[in-house]
Amino acid sequence: MRQHHNRVDLHLHSTASDGVYTPSEVVRMALERGLAVIALTDHDTLGGVAEAQQAAVGTGLEVVAGVEVNSEGDWGDLHILGYYVDLNHGPLQEQLEAVRDVRVGRARKMIERLTEMGMPLAWEDVRALAGGASVGRPHVARALVNRGYVKTTKEAFDRFIANDGPAYVPRMRLSPSEVIQTIIDAGGVPVLAHAAHFGKQAIALIPEMVGYGLRGLEVYYPHHSPEQIEMLLGLCQEHGLLVTGGTDFHGPDSSEGAQLGSVHVPLECAERLREAAFQRSGPAHTGGERPMTPSEVQIYLNVTEEDADPKRLDELTGRLLRDLRELGAESVERPSGGVTPEGAKGDTFTLGALALVAVPAFLPRLVEFLQAWSLRGESQGRRVKIKTPAGLEVEFTPEKKLSQAELVALVENLTQTQ
Ligand SMILES: [Zn+2]
Ligand SMILES: [Zn+2]
Repeated sequence: MRQHHNRVDLHLHSTASDGVYTPSEVVRMALERGLAVIALTDHDTLGGVAEAQQAAVGTGLEVVAGVEVNSEGDWGDLHILGYYVDLNHGPLQEQLEAVRDVRVGRARKMIERLTEMGMPLAWEDVRALAGGASVGRPHVARALVNRGYVKTTKEAFDRFIANDGPAYVPRMRLSPSEVIQTIIDAGGVPVLAHAAHFGKQAIALIPEMVGYGLRGLEVYYPHHSPEQIEMLLGLCQEHGLLVTGGTDFHGPDSSEGAQLGSVHVPLECAERLREAAFQRSGPAHTGGERPMTPSEVQIYLNVTEEDADPKRLDELTGRLLRDLRELGAESVERPSGGVTPEGAKGDTFTLGALALVAVPAFLPRLVEFLQAWSLRGESQGRRVKIKTPAGLEVEFTPEKKLSQAELVALVENLTQTQ
């Protein structure tokens, strides 16, 4: 009777993509079912993860930061899951946004852009012009003429929707190798979703994807037959891949997936996945540093481009590291000085893993210190961030002063995910 309950579900959707329940509701349902580890893996967005992790504060439930990214090859779609990704990784955010644009449809997106530029078009009108065919640029051009924004369709192209026009939205096809690489760059673990669900062609590609850095296969899945599970377990063994699983839960009446927590996924799968996520050293902390142990947290600092100058960086970080030591941090190390651009604008940078600090006894003091530091003048508006081995991230900014209750909840959550 010991393995009576399924405790792990590493494939869940919420309203952040096409699920029925909000991230908080998904967490509540996971708690009701007595799960120990879940991953929120919305399609092409990380938008629900923070809410889910917040909803799990103090409950003992681990919410893994996840995403399910759509990739396209000549053979068709492949879905790739990214686990323990950095929620604030700029290139990943950009890639997901590009994929979402494809989902919305290029034409729709172009209409949005034209509307923003002061030339509103109704989607229904443009679609009517396509007469049932898929809506393309010629239809958008004609709609612009019909509304009197331009005189000819040629003018519409020349001024707005030609390949270099201000309202043009490029066709975006992400290859599996691109998706895998971005997930790795974001510190995550890439896993092929429902590995047997897209047919033999997809399975034949597994060795190639392993070459790109694929780390695991989703073996336990509602629509996988026992034979398929057996076959996938064999492939995992052969290629040294992680075994994962989940329900692909979207909602109670969805044709996709199964009910939350209803697929048996051994707890060990979640443990191996977590280990894999924290054994590897991501590009944000390269440089031969030792990996984070479960009783440590990493501290990241958001810096400006000028700070990236080594001397300024030393001045800026030296003080913070000294303060941490004085505060009583057991081990303050500087695992790397790597500075990576963050965000679309490229004007902010993250200083990879500034310090490894032992916890948990030190945690309450650390949280208070970082909040105070971020509010102090010497931070000059820079943001500082804690990252735990379980992938939980908390950012302190001058704009957001946490209440005492929030600080307590935060410490509690950080402690239980150690
Ligand atoms: Zn999928
Ligand atoms: Zn899914």
